[in-house]
Amino acid sequence: MSLIRQNLQDIAATIVAAIQESGRPPASVQLLAVSKTFGPEAVLEAVAAGQRAFGENYLQEGLDKIRVVQEGGAADLEWHFIGPIQSNKTRPIAEHFAWVHTVEREKIAQRLSEQRPAGLAPLQICLQVNISGEASKSGVAPEEVAGLAHKVASLPNLTLRGLMAIPEPAVEFEQQRAAFARLRAVYEQLRADGLALDTLSMGMSADMRAAIFEGATIVRVGSAIFGARHYNKA
Ligand SMILES: *Cc1c(COP(=O)(O)O)cnc(C)c1O
Repeated sequence: MSLIRQNLQDIAATIVAAIQESGRPPASVQLLAVSKTFGPEAVLEAVAAGQRAFGENYLQEGLDKIRVVQEGGAADLEWHFIGPIQSNKTRPIAEHFAWVHTVEREKIAQRLSEQRPAGLAPLQICLQVNISGEASKSGVAPEEVAGLAHKVASLPNLTLRGLMAIPEPAVEFEQQRAAFARLRAVYEQLRADGLALDTLSMGMSADMRAAIFEGATIVRVGSAIFGARHYNKA
């Protein structure tokens, strides 16, 4: 069996176990395979093992990979953009991805909505929230999420699905949970305000179990599937 297939099976088992232990409904957590820095052949290997949703951080790398993977015959894949967004690079994101997890400014959301091609489903959006304060430069501050969320929810070609965060790395399970609990609290508040959200994008290779205990509906997992990354290889 290929290593990627074996890793996907192990992660599926970890997810099922965490769902059961935390008393959540079966199949309430989706695995997003983060393929950044890995080539199309790695994606195709994961596809052969049944994986459908892939996350990319770097726009040009992601666009090239999407094209090659499509040429490789893989259909019906769902591509998620999970990296920082420059405002002059929104068009290809709006054209080639199904989801964007890293919206943190109204201007970016407006451009994505304007540039989403007619005929495609609305772009599915998560707002990135900074739940680690000074330790992170990315994401909207928790107290500013509600204002941004209501604006994004009103844009025609976007569907606001929920929130995403990348907490400061923590080793202890309880510490990991505490950070995810902060994102969940912001999410529950927005739902209480009447926004129809269903997505908490949180948890990576090292902390997906804690994220599932706090209600993650999408875990974004890279190295546990594809192995260690080497950023300067290309
Ligand atoms: C790289 C990345 C991941 C995956 O991280 P791993 O530790 O390899 O699982 C998840 N989310 C985002 C936003 C990333 O940039």
